Amino acid sequence: MMHIERNRPLKPLTTFKIGGPAREFVELSDLNDISEILSYAESYHLKTLVLGGGSNMLVSDNGFDGLVINVRNQGIAELGDNQINIASGEIWDNVVKFAVEQGLWGIENLSRIPGRTGAIAVQNVGAYGQEVSQVLVNVEVYDRKTNTFRTLSNDECGFSYRKSIFNTTEKNRHVILSTILQLSAEPKRNLSYPDVKKRFEGNPEPTQQEIREAIKEIRDKKFPFPAESTQGNAGSFFKNSLISSEQFEEVESNFKKHLPDYLDRLLKYKPSSFIPHLSSHIKIPSAFILEACGLKGFRRGDVMLNPTQPVVVLNVTGKATADEVLCLVKEVRAIVEEKTGLHLYTEPELIGFSAEELRGYGFNEEEIARYTG
Ligand SMILES: Cc1cc2nc3c(=O)[nH]c(=O)nc-3n(C[C@H](O)[C@H](O)[C@H](O)COP(=O)(O)OP(=O)(O)OC[C@H]3O[C@@H](n4cnc5c(N)ncnc54)[C@H](O)[C@@H]3O)c2cc1C
Repeated sequence: MMHIERNRPLKPLTTFKIGGPAREFVELSDLNDISEILSYAESYHLKTLVLGGGSNMLVSDNGFDGLVINVRNQGIAELGDNQINIASGEIWDNVVKFAVEQGLWGIENLSRIPGRTGAIAVQNVGAYGQEVSQVLVNVEVYDRKTNTFRTLSNDECGFSYRKSIFNTTEKNRHVILSTILQLSAEPKRNLSYPDVKKRFEGNPEPTQQEIREAIKEIRDKKFPFPAESTQGNAGSFFKNSLISSEQFEEVESNFKKHLPDYLDRLLKYKPSSFIPHLSSHIKIPSAFILEACGLKGFRRGDVMLNPTQPVVVLNVTGKATADEVLCLVKEVRAIVEEKTGLHLYTEPELIGFSAEELRGYGFNEEEIARYTG
């Protein structure tokens, strides 16, 4: 039986600790309610927002003028053959903990990522050399276009770096209800990421629990875990840049002009052989770009780029507004573009902003289409 609340504050439901209220709000615990909830929204012409743990979004100070559906269904079931089926409302880190306790490998490097399991497919969550797409078998969804329950295979999810159909071509079409992962009883250590590699020097075969603890420690040194801190954040605010060889040459020449002290470090990202015209194959971490531009710890009022990991925008006092965040982001992106020629794309979803507002904060038409589509 659905229970609709009005004017529910969203700030406490996001890890940024920012944002106005939802005009209407409903919790989805029983999957049988989904079609009733969606037809209610349709009959009142309400826009909808599916909310998990609110850890990958910035909500406007005006809130969301529509119906927020907070997915809260619970349950982790072992299916045999090292597969697990997870309800979307399960806290993701509890799933990782469960897998480690069962000796099931494949997601231990994704420890301590906030949020609920329904969202892991949305941006193909990844960290420390693992990505959800490497283990995801399928997701069960409610398809709003056909008004049916469907199963989408890994291929149908269209995964790439921080992308899937759920945040690009088919945004807002599906409510993800559960996810099946294929894990492995055989150890599958991924210690390739530099921080992890360093941590296990002299211990080439750490246990799964040791890896989980190491990842948690490494992460905690870089930025605050929102549930345990007064400082809010939404993880990485800026995506890493994926650029072509031609773009790399432009960036290199900008570094020679404006950031010569960082040129050697930039050149480490240059592949040994260039493949002309192959688009977007060189990855440059945004953390490096922001550091090179002198933006570590860059602060305006209540908002700051994290001094240790500058891709994370911090709500330092817990009192920041969404307007303050986007003004700082605008300033930061302008500095980066001027010095390097790179456009830093933003990662979290921006909720409740109009196209005009986003234009004012310096977002281009492609980004505006993503956030308002
Ligand atoms: C401290 C911190 C560290 C982080 N580290 C990482 C990291 O290492 N790697 C990484 O990839 N991300 C990271 N993130 C981002 C974030 O935690 C993940 O993207 C997470 O999966 C979001 O889950 P959520 O439940 O909070 O999603 P929400 O923020 O609630 O939603 C995010 C998007 O997914 C959609 N969505 C949510 N649930 C569903 C559903 N059931 N069906 C359909 N759509 C849905 C929402 O509509 C929204 O568009 C980090 C965030 C923080 C705050």
